[in-house]
Amino acid sequence: MRLLTATIVHECNVFLPLKADLEHFRNDQLIFDQEIIDFYTNAKTFVGGFIDKSKELGFELIPTVYANASAFGVITKEAYDYVLNEILTRAEKAKDIDGVLLFTHGAGYTEEYPDMEGHYFRELRKVVGSEIPMVSTFDWHANHTEEWQKHLDVPVGNDTYPHIDSYERGLEGADIIVKMIKDEIKPTKAFVKAPLILSAQAQYTGRYPLTELFDRIHQLEAREEVVTITAAGGFPWCDVPEPWPTVTVTTDDDPKLAEELANELKDFIWDHRMDFLVKPMPIAKAVETARTAEKGPIVLADIANNPGWGSAADGTALLGEMINQKSENAVIGSLWDRDRKAIEKAIEAGVGNQVTLTVGGKVDDLHGGPLEVTGRVKLIWDGKWLGKGPMSAGVSHDNGYTVVIDINGLLLVLTEKRMQITDLQFYRCLGIEPKDKQILAVYSSVHYRAAHDPIAERIIEVDTPGLASPRLAGYPWQHLKRPIFPLDPETFDMVEWKSMTDP
Ligand SMILES: [Zn+2]
Repeated sequence: MRLLTATIVHECNVFLPLKADLEHFRNDQLIFDQEIIDFYTNAKTFVGGFIDKSKELGFELIPTVYANASAFGVITKEAYDYVLNEILTRAEKAKDIDGVLLFTHGAGYTEEYPDMEGHYFRELRKVVGSEIPMVSTFDWHANHTEEWQKHLDVPVGNDTYPHIDSYERGLEGADIIVKMIKDEIKPTKAFVKAPLILSAQAQYTGRYPLTELFDRIHQLEAREEVVTITAAGGFPWCDVPEPWPTVTVTTDDDPKLAEELANELKDFIWDHRMDFLVKPMPIAKAVETARTAEKGPIVLADIANNPGWGSAADGTALLGEMINQKSENAVIGSLWDRDRKAIEKAIEAGVGNQVTLTVGGKVDDLHGGPLEVTGRVKLIWDGKWLGKGPMSAGVSHDNGYTVVIDINGLLLVLTEKRMQITDLQFYRCLGIEPKDKQILAVYSSVHYRAAHDPIAERIIEVDTPGLASPRLAGYPWQHLKRPIFPLDPETFDMVEWKSMTDP
């Protein structure tokens, strides 16, 4: 049995004034053929799951392209054409394929195609034909569309945010396609959308009402007639007309049941819409609360500066306040040093020496302006390390040049590449024991939780400015269908409500 595999990862924040060109792909990850197997063997990721399953079930995995540009602005036509062509050329050459097993993030947007995946799946079908099974795994933040349903037999998406089940979903996707090829199942699916948009905080699956939604999904998945259920939170920042939460129920030859269950789950999301509203803490209050807490670590989440949602991750509002309030025994990171000037200056000064650097605000003026900071260079590092944590165990990371500046006890981490701290091992590579710190401030909306929850005395979501803010009304939406919950008051059916989109 021979299964072709390909990966395109893109999560588009159209409001980020930077484009994902080929260089951006190459900086993130653009690898081919056997290199993919070598990189992802033993990695607890979607593709790591495909590889392990291929060994267990004895099928051959034919790797083609692994292209990652997550998360950033729109993909340039040139970059998309190149990646697509590399995949299609290899698919054409591959002979006697029994199926196609993909990993696709699902929030892709190119200069030409707002529904990138719809185009990608369609083009791939033209090459491999309509007869063989095609299954794709997806990130939870996928904007599933009707177009995808025409080409894909089964979508298998994350059940978690933070995404700690990517490996298991990889195994599941491989199991399903093998059963299809052996004619053991005949997938029939129903696809529905709930007309609302969800902020990053609202999509945290460790919080009600998503906890309850997934309890129900797992109950239903235990039924023999149900092959798999994929709920997705959607990624509104693509600014497509319907970046809504979706549910796809796949049953074994029972379309009526699929329809029934999909509608039940969609109704659950809609009926609980008020429960998805979240309210972060004002910056000054959050810093004071963390500073004066009896016991640490207190995690301050700079939720609007999440690079995983395509923000610049170089915001200075929280950092500035932490300096103002003389936060000690604290860490903040990782701040993206886009032009590398601060990093280079720190390297030039050398460890132990004092420097004054301009940091942050190097992409736009939405995350707080550039800030001048003075401190001592504590560490200079090449940023290469191996993940140990719950999200990327066994994955080799490269954050580029990384420096730590000690600002009177506040350790500021600057990296050459954008990143979220989702693994305690990262701190430890910096010589920092996170458990001993009073404050851990992270540029992340939700992913930090998987690693930080077990050690945090308290987690505070901070109301910072930036492109991943839950203040959804503040974005210059152009294509989003209106009215939409929770942007437009007429979509609220409660007499009294206080939207978190209020200024
Ligand atoms: Zn995601």
